[in-house]
Amino acid sequence: MKQRGVRRAILIGGGIAGPVLGMFLRRLGVEVTIYEAREALVESEGAFLGVAPNGMNVLVELGIAGAVQARGALCEGLRFENARGRRIGEIDQREAARRFGAGLVMIRRGALQAALAEEAVRRGVEIRYGMRLADIDRSDPRAVVARFDEGGEGGEAGEARGDVLIGCDGFRSRTRARALPDAPAPGYTGLIDFGGFARCPSAPLSPGWNVMVFGRRAFFGAFAAPDGEVWWFHNSGEPEAGGALAPGSLRERILASHEGDPGWIADVVRATPEVLGPWRLHDILTMPRWHAGRVCLIGDAAHAATPHAGQGASLAMEDGMLLARCLRDAAEPEQAFAAFERLRRPRVEAIVRQARRNGSRKAVAGPVAEWLRDRALPLFLRIGAAAQERAYAYRIDWEARVA
Ligand SMILES: Cc1cc2nc3c(=O)[nH]c(=O)nc-3n(C[C@H](O)[C@H](O)[C@H](O)COP(=O)(O)OP(=O)(O)OC[C@H]3O[C@@H](n4cnc5c(N)ncnc54)[C@H](O)[C@@H]3O)c2cc1C
Repeated sequence: MKQRGVRRAILIGGGIAGPVLGMFLRRLGVEVTIYEAREALVESEGAFLGVAPNGMNVLVELGIAGAVQARGALCEGLRFENARGRRIGEIDQREAARRFGAGLVMIRRGALQAALAEEAVRRGVEIRYGMRLADIDRSDPRAVVARFDEGGEGGEAGEARGDVLIGCDGFRSRTRARALPDAPAPGYTGLIDFGGFARCPSAPLSPGWNVMVFGRRAFFGAFAAPDGEVWWFHNSGEPEAGGALAPGSLRERILASHEGDPGWIADVVRATPEVLGPWRLHDILTMPRWHAGRVCLIGDAAHAATPHAGQGASLAMEDGMLLARCLRDAAEPEQAFAAFERLRRPRVEAIVRQARRNGSRKAVAGPVAEWLRDRALPLFLRIGAAAQERAYAYRIDWEARVA
């Protein structure tokens, strides 16, 4: 079906939201170009993440869930432990596919991005790398013009014109800064994240399981991939939002913050050839508006979540599917954007808040705080598990009309 008001869409950002939205728009016959600031697709880039059942169900609708899962690994469960290595909770994921229609898939971020981008191109989405959005011209009410720092299109240096422009450009979104200049800046949560990949046969991990340790000062998560590799991440408190951390001391810093925690954590960190990060974790709890004229934000650009709920990528996928449905069914782009924001806001803001709460127990500042935290953890984990069930159970019906 040809979309009525939108023939040509400009998507800024080829991370996760961009290619997913692009594939759904191609179904509607829309001409789609993604402008991505990076010079090229780099499959080895970044750490890893979990695509939750609700995100996998979007990929099922696109017919690419199997291809994505083949580049990652199914997670069988999450096990939570305290600093003494005692088990304090467990979430079995082996029934997830039966209960939610899809399982939780752990995948390297670069591999996920490559799978989505390659499939988008195969379906007719054009991706132009090395194109960083600089500015947006909204002076023509019937179109929108994007200006780029470098490069150009069709001889017109550095410009692209479309019926709509969708900002899929992540939590530091330039689209947001240009189209919604009054939007609040992402807030720093006081936690940083490191990660890595290691071979460490002595670590007591079961293949397919994610072990999460609430340590004495910091948090450590480790997933045992089927080939025996350990995929890990670490969260600790860092009061400063800016400033460089000396690269030479990153590993020592992580090791120091896990002194007194189960010894295998230090073994894994020492066995890691390259420590990745740090990422300073930001979120956007709420924004007054997600759209202006023919411009709309999706994914982290609209509602960045910290990784503590494991939902950022999955929400970006849901956004892509739902926005395409809204564009299909509304008479005008602005009506589609208003419907999208109305339908999405309650869900995504609840998950961003839940992710913030999940993170709040990860770094503690001393034995008293640790003791209090550990008393509250079992209840806290039960509440978190219930919130996770609600997030997983969400489904979008592509065929249903948006009212
Ligand atoms: C350490 C860490 C761990 C995480 N773990 C998880 C997890 O386990 N599960 C989960 O679901 N989520 C996780 N997330 C969150 C997840 O990565 C994001 O929510 C998700 O990537 C958002 O997708 P997006 O497409 O909105 O933005 P992004 O994936 O950030 O993509 C934005 C793209 O826009 C491009 N871009 C930026 N500016 C411009 C510009 N001016 N012009 C053109 N292009 C531009 C960028 O280069 C990038 O490719 C994690 C995040 C971090 C930092």
